[in-house]
Amino acid sequence: MAVERTLSIIKPDATRRNLTGKINARFEEAGLRIVAQKRIRLTKEQAEKFYEVHAERSFFGELVSFMTSGPVVVQVLEGENAVVANRDIMGATNPANAAPGTIRKDFAESIEANSVHGSDSPENAASEIKFFFSKSEIVP
Ligand code: UDP
Repeated sequence: MAVERTLSIIKPDATRRNLTGKINARFEEAGLRIVAQKRIRLTKEQAEKFYEVHAERSFFGELVSFMTSGPVVVQVLEGENAVVANRDIMGATNPANAAPGTIRKDFAESIEANSVHGSDSPENAASEIKFFFSKSEIVP
């Protein structure tokens, strides 16, 4: 299996409840390494650009408001098969459907305020990492 990188975001519902450390522990316990991390407040323009594939969806406006409602922690996770591994740790988009022991099952408030984002393919991971981090900010 290849060592990969994926982009993770700890969303505003989770930073508001002071869950950054608990969520990071899930990644580290599963063997993923946090090789870059910063706490930022997304601008409306950044949130719209990041989620542009969902621009036509009915939830887009609400999603952008939510993602700009408080701080987020953007991070690069590195490890074997990191994209799929992280999606497994996160659980399904809707916490009602998320498997026991996943971040979304244990922490998410709703399908929107679902605590974490994780890239869904290696290609998207590469572009999402570039969206937030320069090369020198990633320290393996
Ligand atoms: N989302 C929402 N309502 C929906 C579906 C998605 O508010 O009906 C939000 C939710 O925060 C989700 C994000 O939009 O994480 C991106 O949706 P996607 O389908 O890409 O899910 P993900 O890859 O985050 O599991």
